[in-house]
Amino acid sequence: MPDNLETRISIYQPEQQGLVFPEIPAFNSFAEEREYRKKHLVAATRAFAMHGFDYGFAGHLTVRDPERPDLYWTNPMCVHFSQVKMSNLILADHAGTVVEGTHAVNRAGFVLHSAVHEAHPEIVAMCHAHTTYGTAWCATGRPLDMISQDAACFYNSHVVIRASAGAVAVERKSGHSVADAFGNNRAALHQNHGLLTASRHSIDDAAFWFIALERCCQVQLMVEASGVKPVTIPDKSAQYSREHVGSDFIGWLHFQTLYDQIAATQPDMFD
Ligand SMILES: [Zn+2]
Repeated sequence: MPDNLETRISIYQPEQQGLVFPEIPAFNSFAEEREYRKKHLVAATRAFAMHGFDYGFAGHLTVRDPERPDLYWTNPMCVHFSQVKMSNLILADHAGTVVEGTHAVNRAGFVLHSAVHEAHPEIVAMCHAHTTYGTAWCATGRPLDMISQDAACFYNSHVVIRASAGAVAVERKSGHSVADAFGNNRAALHQNHGLLTASRHSIDDAAFWFIALERCCQVQLMVEASGVKPVTIPDKSAQYSREHVGSDFIGWLHFQTLYDQIAATQPDMFD
């Protein structure tokens, strides 16, 4: 996994050396890395359940297989986010064909993910769910305003996708138009649909920034509902926040809090 050395150095203050601090693991084999990615995918899915991101069978979280990057581990069709575990994950290809696992994939929704993955080989992981505030904000067709440090983590790294907005993302051509528009961004607000996040780093990073994005949408809706005009962060400050507290590594780091809590309290995730 790539890392942002500058960010790590700024976090690792010299006086903190020797104290407990999460470390990105190194792997000795594809099997080890696959196991890690699958565990963190399961935890990400359960984190989505904890945040109330479930909506029937809608929503996908994907992470590439480390050995066969043309294949993706994802959550199974019609299994609640809270009941996803190691043994019911499925491995699917670009076309949504399941090559490992006992469950079906929600192929109609999966095409959106696979199209973005296919068009962007550097994207390791993606998340999508039909969330309340994200869907509400996506109805506005507007990008986020830089009204908080958290929102600034999406400065110049999120895009509103209007193409084929009226069509439910079940057609392959709709997936391709989303993939084209996604660009180098970390997140997309798919108008009249919902949120997507992608990571070139890890499922941890994609999942954390998805949770953050949903909250940013909620906060902006609350501020706008108040009728009070918010103060916005200057571009230079927003850029600084994006680089220092909004890096891919910071997304990974935030997620370790959730991973540890879920692993400790939901041991059936490892079944
Ligand atoms: Zn969807």
